[in-house]
Amino acid sequence: MALTPMMQQYHDAKQVAGDALLLFRMGDFYELFHEDATKAAGILGLSLTSRDKGDPKNGKEPTPMAGFPHHQLDQYLAKIIAAGMRAAVCEQVEDPKEAKGIVRRDVTRIVSRGTVTDDTLLDPQSSNFLLAIAPYESSDRSACGLAWIDVSTGRFEATSVDPSRLGDELARIAPVELLVREDRPPLPVEWSERRVVTSRPPWAFGQQAAKAALDKHFGPHALEGFGFNESDAPALAAAGAVLDYLVETQKASMAHIDRLVPHRTGSTLEIDESTRRSLEITKTIRDGTREGSLWGVLDRTITSMGARLLGDWLANPLTSVDTIVARHDAVEELLKNASLTTALRETLRSIYDMPRLLARITTGRASPRDLCFVARTLACLPKVKAKLADRTSARLEQLHTRIDLCGGIRKDLETALEEECPLTAREGGFIRSGFNAELDEQRELAKGGKQWIAKYQAEAIERTGIPSMKIGFNRVFGYYLEVTHAHRDKVPDDFIRKQTLKNAERYVTPELKEYEEKVLAAEERAQTLEYDLFVELRETVASAAKRLQATATALAEIDCLASLAELARSRNYVRPEMVDQAKLEIIGGRHPVLDVTEPEGTFVPNDVACKSRESRVESLEEDPAEGASFLLITGPNMAGKSTYIRQVALLTLMSQVGSFVPAEKATVGVADRIFARVGASDDLARGRSTFMVEMTETARILNTATPRSLVILDEIGRGTSTYDGLSIAWAVVEHLHNVVGCRTLFATHYHELTDLEAQLTGLANFNVAVQEHAGRVVFLHRIISGSADKSYGIHVAQLAGVPREVNERAADILEQLEAKSAQTGESDQRYRLDRPAKNGSLQMTLFEMADHPLLDEIRELDIDSMTPLEAFGKLSDWHEQL
Ligand code: ADP
Repeated sequence: MALTPMMQQYHDAKQVAGDALLLFRMGDFYELFHEDATKAAGILGLSLTSRDKGDPKNGKEPTPMAGFPHHQLDQYLAKIIAAGMRAAVCEQVEDPKEAKGIVRRDVTRIVSRGTVTDDTLLDPQSSNFLLAIAPYESSDRSACGLAWIDVSTGRFEATSVDPSRLGDELARIAPVELLVREDRPPLPVEWSERRVVTSRPPWAFGQQAAKAALDKHFGPHALEGFGFNESDAPALAAAGAVLDYLVETQKASMAHIDRLVPHRTGSTLEIDESTRRSLEITKTIRDGTREGSLWGVLDRTITSMGARLLGDWLANPLTSVDTIVARHDAVEELLKNASLTTALRETLRSIYDMPRLLARITTGRASPRDLCFVARTLACLPKVKAKLADRTSARLEQLHTRIDLCGGIRKDLETALEEECPLTAREGGFIRSGFNAELDEQRELAKGGKQWIAKYQAEAIERTGIPSMKIGFNRVFGYYLEVTHAHRDKVPDDFIRKQTLKNAERYVTPELKEYEEKVLAAEERAQTLEYDLFVELRETVASAAKRLQATATALAEIDCLASLAELARSRNYVRPEMVDQAKLEIIGGRHPVLDVTEPEGTFVPNDVACKSRESRVESLEEDPAEGASFLLITGPNMAGKSTYIRQVALLTLMSQVGSFVPAEKATVGVADRIFARVGASDDLARGRSTFMVEMTETARILNTATPRSLVILDEIGRGTSTYDGLSIAWAVVEHLHNVVGCRTLFATHYHELTDLEAQLTGLANFNVAVQEHAGRVVFLHRIISGSADKSYGIHVAQLAGVPREVNERAADILEQLEAKSAQTGESDQRYRLDRPAKNGSLQMTLFEMADHPLLDEIRELDIDSMTPLEAFGKLSDWHEQL
């Protein structure tokens, strides 16, 4: 059966939309058909109807259909995106009045999580990255190209990484949508969960295609100018895939994407995925939100662009002492000059989200209100700039020079635009009078016409004696005279009846029509003029986009620095002294998150002193206890061990971000990497055993930590049997101490490890102070030198509300067990570890215990002279004896 022309149009649009839900504009509605309608009905809660009755005779089912009013588009797009789907918006692209035959329609954009640009669909405080992964293999290299863009601001970056670092990079960049090659195996769930994964054809990731797409967009040779070179082929392939996807989905200008920035590792602190997760830097483990994470606590920014930049700083802490110190200098100056900071922050309140505004302006999607917001932002600049004049810190000084007042643009906008501007440019009413002579003239004409109409109404009332007669206006009939039925018989002959309502009749007259034409023509002309003026203004602003963007970046940084100063003031932070040695000394340090969430004054501060083996060797005269590289922390559960070691990692990270820290005094040696293996992982849900995850992460630390790194480990080995676990923990301690020598904090419940203090010169024992009083235990949360002497498991059970009888019984059993093992030395300890560790000559003397008689027999065997059969016979004898 032939399709109706409209359904043909629908099918054409569906071809373009692919797997995206097609929202097909029909009059005042967006409609969905077929499978899209069924899907949408479920996801969007729309009621499912049908477009036709089908054709039962030919077995044709009715066509399912669902729809919503056009003004609810944003709302439904938000729902579609939240459900992880994509939507193709198909608009009527010509005025139905002018259409010959059926109105032309086109897919004007395809919207997905990673390509949205509407403010209503975006989180103002987070970047919204779309990231492409381009696998790359050549004879001498296997790499992974990554490119990520925030379409809402135009920020576009690319890098090449070793495939093993892919997970870490995804955790750092935190993209919302991934573009992957459709011919590759699916990504592991931990990378794709809470993200949209869009498959693209292999050619979209090709070198040639990428080069062509990038040259076309940025111009030939631009890439070298951006700092890319031949080794960046994988990065560029990914960037090409991103551009290709945008060209296909955006159908709009991409002028705001004016640079591709190469991301180079080395200048930032390396933090792997599991460390990022366990330290809860930008989101919590519990529910993945910002609330309760380090970012949540640190963020005192005023503007959205400031909040996004701070998130970026936290994801990419610095490693250069000079750059960190420059940030600290700026924060210190702002902290000392409280009135300056307060005033700056007050001014920032009137500043709008410039990067997103500029993106809308350069791509032609801006509204008059957007321009008005730019004008208001520009109006704040002189104040900000003046306040930053004569600053002593180099960074504030630089930011001062970077603020470009853009006075000309501000003047253009302010003289042209009204104080308040509408969200659409088509209906006018936003250009000031006096700005354009012709516009003023047309407005006068329209106004004059309206005055004439008002006068005409008064005269008509007088002439007819109908006091309630009024003149109204609608789009269909234009101006009309409305007379209630009660006065119908007083209507004069020259009134021409146009419409009958329930209570009234509507009439027109030739004079009224004549003036109506004048009014409407003038209004229409005025609107067109306003629109043209608007476009001109928008283009003026767009042409200065680079200067405005640089200024916006400076403003965001000022916001971040002022936010750090405000935080330091309100939470009593100190400036860490940054040094280029691998050491760490903190006095009275507090956990930044618990410091805020625990009741005021209850968090117990702690000290830490630790330096890598290298820096210890450099200053041998110092007390070794002060300068241990390896701090072994034992103590009961719930005493505060993991809080303490996390705190040390977080304080180091905060220092390298440029923040002050919650402590009385801090000296921080810049770390190149921070590793955290802390607490139970949530990976169980992903089908990997906790122990496997723990060991993979531990392996990673042992293989990649350098003497400059900071490692914190919590309860290594817990996921397996006691002796397996202890042996692994033991060997890990030795390796980190003897081979790596980096700053390490190791919290453990394996008490046996504390004996290592006597053998490893750089290891110092610490434990958590506990107070026992009248049979009750109080955890003081204070970290003190020495090893813990008791496990307080039963006390913890008591604290947790385990019934008293059970606790008493447990205490009883414990006593018996302890007595028994003291008497006989017998327990289920069947192993004897008597091989020296390879990297030292240590004996694991802890496990000294009674030998099994069989062991002597084995020791005495002359294996070399045995035949395999004899050996087998022996084995089977022993087996029987056991
Ligand atoms: P552990 O690792 O020893 O089992 P945690 O570090 O998980 O113990 O701490 C248990 C609880 O004790 C924390 O949730 C926190 O409420 C409290 N706590 C830990 N350290 C401190 C501290 N320094 N001051 C106050 N409360 C603390």
